[in-house]
This record gives sequence, C-alpha cells and structure tokens, in this order.
Amino acid sequence: MSTYNITVLPGDGVGPEVVAEAMKVLLALEEPHPNLRFVFSEHPVGAACYQETGEDLPESTLQACRQSDAIFFGSAGDPEIRFPDGTEIAPQLTLRFVLDLYAGIRPIKKYPGVPPLLSADPPIDYVILRENTEGLYASRGAGVRVGDEVAVDNMVITNKGTERIVHAAFQIARLRDGAPSDGKSRVTCVDKANVLKSMAFFRQIYNRVAEDYPDTERDYAYVDAFTVYQLRGADYYDVVVAENMFGDIISDLAAATIGGMGMAPSADVGDNHGIFQPSHGTAPDIAGQGIANPLAQILSASMMLTWLGDRHNDADATAAARTIDTAVGAILKNPSNHPPDLGGSAATPSVGDAVVGAITS
Ligand code: ATP
Repeated sequence: MSTYNITVLPGDGVGPEVVAEAMKVLLALEEPHPNLRFVFSEHPVGAACYQETGEDLPESTLQACRQSDAIFFGSAGDPEIRFPDGTEIAPQLTLRFVLDLYAGIRPIKKYPGVPPLLSADPPIDYVILRENTEGLYASRGAGVRVGDEVAVDNMVITNKGTERIVHAAFQIARLRDGAPSDGKSRVTCVDKANVLKSMAFFRQIYNRVAEDYPDTERDYAYVDAFTVYQLRGADYYDVVVAENMFGDIISDLAAATIGGMGMAPSADVGDNHGIFQPSHGTAPDIAGQGIANPLAQILSASMMLTWLGDRHNDADATAAARTIDTAVGAILKNPSNHPPDLGGSAATPSVGDAVVGAITS
C-alpha cells in the first residue's frame, strides 16, 4: 500500500472549481488501484489569502509544501488585488524559486475528439521543458530603469541551470515513444543562438549534454521559426527544451494547438519537490460560473502520479496516471462531455463526473 501526502493549494479564481474535480478523480482511482491512498491537506495561498492575512504564501503553507510528497496547485492571483508596488500576486512563482523547481514540464498532447485549431490536424504529442529559474525572467524584480529613458533586463544563462534542464529533457525523451510523425526519440533545442551570445552558450551546453544520450536525435530550431513549426508540422516534435521566457511563450501557443489553456497541464519539478497545476491562470472572466474546463487540472493530477511513480518506484502510481489519461481520452470522444472552451456545454462538475465514471466503470 502506498500512501501519498498531498498538499492542496486551490488558490483563487477557477482554481478551487477545477481542483475540486481533480480531487474527485484522484479519490476515484482508489477503486481500480486499491494499493493507492491519498491524504490531502488543503492550505491557503494567493490573492484572497493576501487580502485576509497580509501574506500570499503563509509560512504554514510553505512548511506543508516542504513536508508533503507532492503539491497540487490550482491557480493564484487576482488583477484587482495587488502588492503595494502594483505587481500581481503570484505565489506559484515564489514557490518555484524557494523550492528550486527548475524544470517546467508542459506536455502538449491533442486528444482525438478535441476540435482542431487549423484545417490540417496532425497528431500532436510532445513535451516542452521550460527552464524555470533563470533566462530572461531572472530579471523579475531586478531589472534596471533609468527614469523615462532606458530600461534593461538581462538574460541569465548559467552552465549549471542549462545542464540540468537539458538532462531533464533527454531523460524524459527516454521514457517516451518518440515523435508522432516518425517514432524517433528527439530533443529539440529552441533558442536564438544566431543572435544572442547567451543563447549560443545555451546551445553549446545542450550539445555537450546531448553526447550522454547517443540514442536520442539532436534537433535545433530558432524560436521565431519554431512558432511556425508548432502550427505546421508539430507532429515532428518529441521533447523540446528552451530558456524561461521562450519556454513560456511557446507553451501558450502550444496549448492553443491542443484545444486551449483548459487542456494544458503542467508540472514544475526540482530534485526534491514537485508542483502540479494547469498551465492556465485564475481565468477571472469565467470564475464562479461553473464553466471552467477542469481537464488541465485533472491531467496535472496524472502528471503528479507519473512523477510519484518514478520517484518512489511505484508501479501502482504510474498505472494510475495512465488510468487518468485513458479516461480523459475516452470522455473527449463524446462531444456531450466537452466544456464551453471546447465548443460544448458541459459544466465543470459534469466533466469531472464523466472522468470519474470512465475510471470506475
Ligand atoms: P495568468 O496571468 O495568471 O496566466 P491570465 O489571465 O493571463 O492569467 P488565464 O487565467 O489563463 O490567463 O486566462 C486566459 C484565457 O483562457 C481566459 O479567457 C480564460 O477564461 C481562459 N481559460 C483559462 N483557463 C481556463 C479553463 N480552465 N477553462 C476554460 N477557459 C479557461
């Protein structure tokens, strides 16, 4: 019997709505996977928490995150509630730095039944590895501005930071079945090495690390050209690695190609901790209406189980991750289970119930 202690941080906006559905799904797994148990402990985080307590990430929440097996996060922030300097509340970014969650893992998989973005409809199934702790966003809160004349942010690329994210990319490639178009195991380095020294350095480190993985094909794309390939020829990609801001931008575009933000799960992992949350934010425009798509959150639960299975060598957790993925694939074939962002009218709880039904039937 494996029991996992999960810190749950529902947060703001649609976060609590989609987290509730994913928790239903996780609990339903105990029926087909009786050796798995989850102990959830919920903690406050985010904009409403800041308004009430003056802290967006209370020490007790951070402690719970450090002590649990995994952190299951909804979304946090509210454009109406800000820090005194005007910046938005984003405890998820703080957690990335405090817990050194250097690898942003963004699976981009289009399930049959989801309406295509373009008339060409290739199979899409790749993973973006976004470096989470440096790159251009290393300047967050630290850029330089000189009056109304000049502002400068620096791109920070370190040997250590790049090595570890490129290793993570090649290791994920080893666990996959290759690119949909040709079945080849391939890691694509997305950069701007033709223009920036920092990016040429990133590519140089990629090449050095790639030597440790001779069975995986090396591949390169400049980030601007890559956005075109994402729309025309995405089936060529297996695993993609990029610095922080490029990874952020290509992840959002990638989400659009698989049905939108409501379909894009994510994980931010380091050597000791992992946070699993949808790629989307708090979606204040639809919060409280019961129409948010909970599948990104539910698929993030699947990623959490894959990660736990790998860390604890637990075949039950790995199998349970697949159970979720198969259930999501099955319910999406029926348009009556599609929420509004996929062109349907299924409410948030009915989508969660459909996934639970597919797991327990
Ligand atoms: P952040 O800055 O926190 O990423 P944002 O406002 O830029 O937040 P999102 O909150 O992700 O971005 O919302 C972007 C758009 O995607 C909004 O129109 C929102 O309604 C939509 N959206 C986000 N999540 C979902 C979801 N789960 N289901 C349906 N639509 C969603």
